[in-house]
Amino acid sequence: MAIKRTRPAPKLNRACMLCGVVQSMSQFRNEGCPNCESVLHFTDNDDLIRECTSPSFEGLVAYKGDEASWVARWLRVENFVPGVYAVRVGGKLPEDVRSDLYSQGVEYRPRDGSVRD
Ligand SMILES: [Zn+2]
Repeated sequence: MAIKRTRPAPKLNRACMLCGVVQSMSQFRNEGCPNCESVLHFTDNDDLIRECTSPSFEGLVAYKGDEASWVARWLRVENFVPGVYAVRVGGKLPEDVRSDLYSQGVEYRPRDGSVRD
């Protein structure tokens, strides 16, 4: 009897340092970040993707867009699109990106565990 192979899930291997969404490199490259594209402009910018997304993350949570859910409060993603999010993302945005975000009025909260409420 042949071993039945299940189709591998799309490779989710990078987490956005700003919002925590987890996608593949090619998703970030082709579609950008579903939440941060208007301020970070990932599309077709491999260098920026490498600087602002991290291959090291933990605590994956599927967020279905339910604003009242405890997950949304926990992740502070009330306005974010449904998707897979990492609770903790290693690394920090580079200084120039942070000041750029600041000038656009975006509050950056590192997700690497260094900031506590
Ligand atoms: Zn993002």
